[in-house]
Amino acid sequence: MILGLDIGGTNTRFALTDENGSLLTACRVIRSAAFADAEKPFQKLASILKEYIADAGSPPVEIISAGVPATVSKDFRTVFCAPNLKSAKGDPVFDGLPVADLLSAEMGIPVLVNKDVNNLLACDMVLNHLASTVVGCYIGTGFGTSVCIDGRFVYGKNGFAMDVGHVSILGQNGICGCGKQGCVETFASGTALNRLRREYFPNIPGEELFLHHSSDPPVSAFVEGCAQLPAFLITCFDPDFVILGGGVLEMPGFPRERLKDLILQYTGRAVASDPPCFIEDTRCPERGVIGAACFARSFYKEKLK
Ligand SMILES: [Zn+2]
Repeated sequence: MILGLDIGGTNTRFALTDENGSLLTACRVIRSAAFADAEKPFQKLASILKEYIADAGSPPVEIISAGVPATVSKDFRTVFCAPNLKSAKGDPVFDGLPVADLLSAEMGIPVLVNKDVNNLLACDMVLNHLASTVVGCYIGTGFGTSVCIDGRFVYGKNGFAMDVGHVSILGQNGICGCGKQGCVETFASGTALNRLRREYFPNIPGEELFLHHSSDPPVSAFVEGCAQLPAFLITCFDPDFVILGGGVLEMPGFPRERLKDLILQYTGRAVASDPPCFIEDTRCPERGVIGAACFARSFYKEKLK
């Protein structure tokens, strides 16, 4: 049995699953601040998880598989940088820490940590029966990307590959949560969208922004900004499928068709001449939990080979 854990910048979800990712218990959702603001975040997170397992009748949990909004080392143990997971004071909670070992020490259960969007893409691929070359672009609090080629995720030398939301773009001056200037996330992310709404539409509730102002220049420019990275990745990988998802794209009235048109407009001409199949993410709130379980299964399968 696996405890699938999906730690987000805002909410954290978890559930017990079997090795295929099927949920065995109802998924619980807590605010990430519940542990991120605690004096001892790992102890607090562990106490929440222990209570959940006890409520489920204390079944034998073999592994905890966690997705985090962060760059993670290739051995799936240490978080390098999680710019969207901070305490109320603005201090990073996981940065530079052996998160898997610290949580494992508290829980007494082995822990695996993976970049959250890799888990999301794993879930979306299973639920949509996708294979070959698949690119995932998820615009939530940040802009997460993931690529899977013939069943293998692209991790790179250190495990930090695909952190393209933190590439600095010429002419962009905003300061990013990662501390750099001009990252893609400074103009294409939920954080950037919130800033835009406060500046231009302070009286409109966030969830109504696209319903009323999709064509207004600042919102239009935001959507255009969101098209840049997918176009770049599609041109790099010439994928069979592209998943477009995340909380921003799921907002009511988000102009998805316009985004797709812009992406193909910016994509290299050869690849755009035979474009990939665009697929919406599954919008299943438990997908990060299911993906974490799928990841744990494939991790141990690979190890046993
Ligand atoms: Zn950045």
